[in-house]
Amino acid sequence: MISPGAPKTNLLGLTPGDLETFVAGLGAKPFRARQLMKWIYRRGVADFGAMTDLSRDFRARLIEVAEVSPPEIVAHHASADGTRKWLLRAAGSSGVEQAVETVFIPEPGRGTLCISSQVGCALDCAFCSTARQGFNRNLSAAEIIGQVWLAHRELGARSEGPRVITNVVLMGMGEPLANYRNVLPALQVMLDDLGYDLSRRRVTVSTSGLVPQIYRLAEDCNVALAVSLHAPDDALRDRLVPINRVHPIAELLEACWHYLERQNGRNITFEYVMLDGVNDSLEQAERLARLLRGREAKVNLIPFNIFPGTEFRRSPRERIDAFRDRLMQRGVMVTVRRTRGDDIDAACGQLKGRVIDRVTSPLGGRRTTMEATA
Ligand code: SAH
Repeated sequence: MISPGAPKTNLLGLTPGDLETFVAGLGAKPFRARQLMKWIYRRGVADFGAMTDLSRDFRARLIEVAEVSPPEIVAHHASADGTRKWLLRAAGSSGVEQAVETVFIPEPGRGTLCISSQVGCALDCAFCSTARQGFNRNLSAAEIIGQVWLAHRELGARSEGPRVITNVVLMGMGEPLANYRNVLPALQVMLDDLGYDLSRRRVTVSTSGLVPQIYRLAEDCNVALAVSLHAPDDALRDRLVPINRVHPIAELLEACWHYLERQNGRNITFEYVMLDGVNDSLEQAERLARLLRGREAKVNLIPFNIFPGTEFRRSPRERIDAFRDRLMQRGVMVTVRRTRGDDIDAACGQLKGRVIDRVTSPLGGRRTTMEATA
């Protein structure tokens, strides 16, 4: 029994299994869950009244106890290169205005949606603007899948038409594997054939290297993995990506090779931000090649995106090319990421949303603001 006045259940973010349990609790047959998923995800419908193949009584019951409630859009920006960015409300613990960002990047033949998993981030990577914002809280599963739901609606995607969003990457604000509990159901909806029906190779979780969660993910969900490596040795990585002090490179790589083996994955992408004079020498390219040679690995070089207050500079184009060429000569697959949407601060590492209630970072030390506990 659901008592009157009880908060409604947000159906966004329920796994297919949870949705079946939910409809069973309302006395409906399990296949109703499948019908509901089709309406919600395929057709982008939030209004139960409009779900015409459900019985009148069931619709009325749903209106009483459930909702399809995505985050609210606070602002929208469109870049000259077609990239779009939405700022979404993510209320803080005291109801304060906070926001996260979602970015859509259109390219010929594909459309990539970059979504956030946390309000801020606690991992404190030295070159990332989200890190400067501190950490407030995890996004709920509804807020995570809700970003895909909203982008579909805003981009005018139709279930009959061609796919608009072909790829989803968890490369927005936050560390997805630090919010495992809510990221997992959202991934399941992305992959489910009645959800977004995305291929496993087109959903990418990017992590700074939370080793225990990489092992968990290997058991729970088959998606593509990207790892933010950024340095070929522990001394440098300790400085750039502080989680390395807890899980150093050797441990991280072991988890990666385990992931590939467990999942029959094709390869792992290693992200490597190109920082002028810091990690971009040919000697460092050699060391990186030694770590990855002979493995199912691909390096993605990301030209550093500058933001106010950072001490880092982007490596010059010639150095990025020389670094790339050296990796190729050593037999390592490598691509250079094209910068998109930087005129609207939508490029990698430029997303900052709005984090107000900062809580202490477990790793940072730099930030000690203790205005609220999430
Ligand atoms: N927390 C996750 C996902 C978020 S960031 C992770 O660390 O993987 C997505 C990618 O952008 C990461 O590889 C991140 O290191 C990189 N990045 C962060 N700041 C950047 C910047 N200023 N310029 C370029 N890439 C950046």
